[in-house]
Amino acid sequence: MSYLKNMICKSCNAEYPPIRETICPECFGPLEIHYDLGKISEDLDISIIDKREKNIWRYKELLPVEENYHVNIHAGFTPLKHCVSLGDYLGLENLYIKDDSCNPTGSFKDRPASIAVSKAGEWGLEAVGCASTGNLAGATAAAAAAANLPCYIFVPKDLDQGKIIPTLLYGGQLVQIDGTYDVVNRLANLTADKNNWGFVNINLRAYYTEGSKTITYECCEQLGWQSPDRIIIPLGSGALLCTARKALDELEELQWIEKKQVKICGSQPIGCSPITEAFEKNRDWITPVQHPNTIVKSLAIGDPASGLEALDIIRSSEGWADSPNDEEILEAQALLARTEGIFTEPAGGSCIASLIRKVREGKVDPKELIVVYITGSGLKTIDTLEGIVHIPSSIKADVAEIEQLIQEVQ
Ligand SMILES: *Cc1c(COP(=O)(O)O)cnc(C)c1O
Ligand SMILES: [Zn+2]
Repeated sequence: MSYLKNMICKSCNAEYPPIRETICPECFGPLEIHYDLGKISEDLDISIIDKREKNIWRYKELLPVEENYHVNIHAGFTPLKHCVSLGDYLGLENLYIKDDSCNPTGSFKDRPASIAVSKAGEWGLEAVGCASTGNLAGATAAAAAAANLPCYIFVPKDLDQGKIIPTLLYGGQLVQIDGTYDVVNRLANLTADKNNWGFVNINLRAYYTEGSKTITYECCEQLGWQSPDRIIIPLGSGALLCTARKALDELEELQWIEKKQVKICGSQPIGCSPITEAFEKNRDWITPVQHPNTIVKSLAIGDPASGLEALDIIRSSEGWADSPNDEEILEAQALLARTEGIFTEPAGGSCIASLIRKVREGKVDPKELIVVYITGSGLKTIDTLEGIVHIPSSIKADVAEIEQLIQEVQ
């Protein structure tokens, strides 16, 4: 049975049954999914969760899909790593990485894609799809493959090969469009409506974001059912950051964690930083970026759908929004790899770079329990790193040459 109760508009509080809409038909405010938390609390002992399979479906009571329709690509339950070396380097005692690069398709997008594709199956939709900055492409195509549904993937052209090739192998129909992500998103929107298809981050968006929130459930569970003091999250559309708030609120209401002020912080690259700009200029509106210019393609969303909500959450939680430049991001990727053996894509580099900047500015207490969300693997974005490593030339198959090379590098 499902504990899914209704959808409530965050602007006008109108209530709806669970429908295939993301904005309120009355006022165009964002719709949010609600559960019968009182009943979950009565029916479910928290210790049961610990015995379940290690993937997102362990929180099934807090997810909006009937059990028969769960699409399981084993997304989630990624490692939460206590980073002693990087912590020492930065002077932080309790630094953790939530390593979502360990998901089956290499990014946290496996979480929301799994939930939205499952919902499409439950509703009997004929096809699924998405508009993607890169990672959602593979995640949606993989979930669609597992659900045996046709899948249409809309992307801006010139994405990394590491994101395109797996998408095609999973059987996704690729629609590459000559335009920015925002243009791609509009066209995907029209296509979904016209064909009555379920596009995971468009008309299934309210369900999709329910998947994203599982990363924050897991953090709390892995910390022994306790919330961190600060979370640092990359900002694309802003949805992932917003779901951190929802996850914490739900766990607090269930009394699975104690109520506390968690500082929710966001990072986006300077070449596409509409949310940070609004934060820094103390504005209540977001000015879209027409032409994003950054190596961080997965965060290159000029007009973020959840931007205002993210801004509000950052402010009210006493967090910050920050925007490092591409060079700082590459250096941060290298630092994380070197100190912790974690290879992230630039989106994760952006979070580490922001943490470094804020530590230097004295905006972070060395004793805080900090969790940084590393949302994607560096293996898909090798091209961006060509300039920052030196590949040594080969040597003769000869022991003496090897000895000489070792002497040189020591
Ligand atoms: C999509 C994506 C994000 C941003 O997620 P939003 O929910 O759109 O804010 C962050 N990191 C990676 C690696 C992504 O692919
Ligand atoms: Zn409304």
